[in-house]
Amino acid sequence: MASRANHIVLLGAAVACAAAFCCLRPGTAGAAEGDLERPVVAASFPIASDVRLAGDNKRTRFILDLDKNIQFRAFALADPYRVVVDLPQLTFQLASGAGTAGRGLIKAFRYGLVMPGGSRIVFDLAGPARIEKSYVLDAANGQPPRLVLELEAVDRTAFVQSLAAESRPDLRPAIGTTDAVAATAAVVTSPAVAEATGAAKAAEPPDVRPVVVIDPGHGGIDNGTQASGESEKNLVLGFALALRDRVEKAGKYRVVMTRTDDTFIPLGDRVRIARNQSAALFVSIHADALPRREGDAQGATIYTLSDKASDAEAERLAELENKADAIGGVNLTEEPTDVADILIDLAQRETRTFSNRFARLLKNEMKTTARMYKHPLKSAGFKVLKAPDVPSVLIELGYVSNKSDLEHLVSDNWRSKTVGSVAQAIDAFFAKRMVSAGSAN
Ligand code: ZN
Repeated sequence: MASRANHIVLLGAAVACAAAFCCLRPGTAGAAEGDLERPVVAASFPIASDVRLAGDNKRTRFILDLDKNIQFRAFALADPYRVVVDLPQLTFQLASGAGTAGRGLIKAFRYGLVMPGGSRIVFDLAGPARIEKSYVLDAANGQPPRLVLELEAVDRTAFVQSLAAESRPDLRPAIGTTDAVAATAAVVTSPAVAEATGAAKAAEPPDVRPVVVIDPGHGGIDNGTQASGESEKNLVLGFALALRDRVEKAGKYRVVMTRTDDTFIPLGDRVRIARNQSAALFVSIHADALPRREGDAQGATIYTLSDKASDAEAERLAELENKADAIGGVNLTEEPTDVADILIDLAQRETRTFSNRFARLLKNEMKTTARMYKHPLKSAGFKVLKAPDVPSVLIELGYVSNKSDLEHLVSDNWRSKTVGSVAQAIDAFFAKRMVSAGSAN
């Protein structure tokens, strides 16, 4: 059985960037992989230049070429079977499509930023496997430093035993812990909000404006849907930032973003940010895609939470969006289960009424600027909409798989108009809440 020590390989003297792995450095936020506009920042991170897979479905080896030694750690996760490698922030310069085709025990792998200062590689496994060895080789014989991972097929029982044998109080170094959520919130909070929070030091009155959380879907290692070279994570971030600017300009609400750069945020943390901020509204921004064999679809759709999906299409989408945590290498077995409490249930019922009201307002506003899906109001079991006390809505802006939808999604003009209609709906929602709150007295 592999000991924990076997999985933690600390090689070489402490590389400057390796230190970033141990502590969050908000100052480095935004230096994302593939961010071509920031080559200078990216250049200061170790570079991963090539990747190779070898072996068969009994033993598979993964090799990553680097330009310097790094520290890392590797661990396995169940359901689905995955291996996660946590690294200091790297600049990935791998061939496009790297990781889409697997070999042996590795079905596919993804890589990218999971937090400022930290990158991650997530391997989808064909079956249960253990990490037999993992290490970094020094540069030698004209070869660059290499990270090597050797996987060996085991049966399910041995796999589960090897997970249990690992003592892993810090399995998720910075993601998912309470501190990390707070840190994440601090990192992603817009400067205006950070200022407002910092203002507590002075004797200024507290900011009592309603909090609107804007949640750009996916990020970092999780690209979301992709088509024609466009990634959902980038499209929805652009839209969400424009929406933030629009809503903040009006000055009536405090806006909190779940992310402002290309960082992976687990679904549970998005919900926690909304709850910790006592948000009055949570708006998740996404873009859908239909597999080619399933034909074509177009237009925006607005989703609310329900136990039972409104139709098969909504169910498919919720399943897809809920995969974000598995894609990002989150240990799903460690996620807290939903609390079954009658009070939460009651709060939830009221929350759902408000969520549905906001969804209808959104539909009415958005249809003046954006093309809507033929049945634009739907519901399904989206994890990100599960805050029991925060009205929450998920907008699918359109289909990146549809040619004219994609033209809209990348158009500044379309974005500006549609952002305006969403901001309008937010205004209408709060106007109505104020009125009903007033009439209740
Ligand atoms: Zn999405």
